[in-house]
Amino acid sequence: MLSQKTRYAIRAMQHLADNYGQGPVQLAAIADNQKIPAKFLTVILSELTRAGLVESQRGRDGGYWLAIPPIDITYGDLIRHMRGSLALVPCASRYAHEKCKNCLEEGECRTRALLLDVRDRTAQILDAIRLSDPITPVPPFAADTA
Ligand code: SF4
Repeated sequence: MLSQKTRYAIRAMQHLADNYGQGPVQLAAIADNQKIPAKFLTVILSELTRAGLVESQRGRDGGYWLAIPPIDITYGDLIRHMRGSLALVPCASRYAHEKCKNCLEEGECRTRALLLDVRDRTAQILDAIRLSDPITPVPPFAADTA
């Protein structure tokens, strides 16, 4: 699963994409709008700035904005920058690979082959969707089907 930090980073970047070209967005506005703890958001925005995805300006009229147009940032790029694994199990991760303790031989394990395929298809989808693309929220699942 994606880490909490990666999920917050995605929401912060969506907010910056919504405000792209309109000047700096204050940290408090992102935190408030996206319900992200301000301290955690500071750390996340610093990481995104170091990755070259965000720029910032200090001062009363300062804030954060996307360093590159949202059309040039895919969700795949963003998640990789935050080092979130797309795989359901660590051994099927291409960038954060890890074996479990009681592993079968990886080359003989059907579960790994299956979940590697799931990982690769997930990456294909995420690499094809850009921060500028409209995404329609989905209503919550009914409690009995969750
Ligand atoms: S047993 Fe299979 S699924 Fe588990 S870590 Fe080893 S290769 Fe991966």
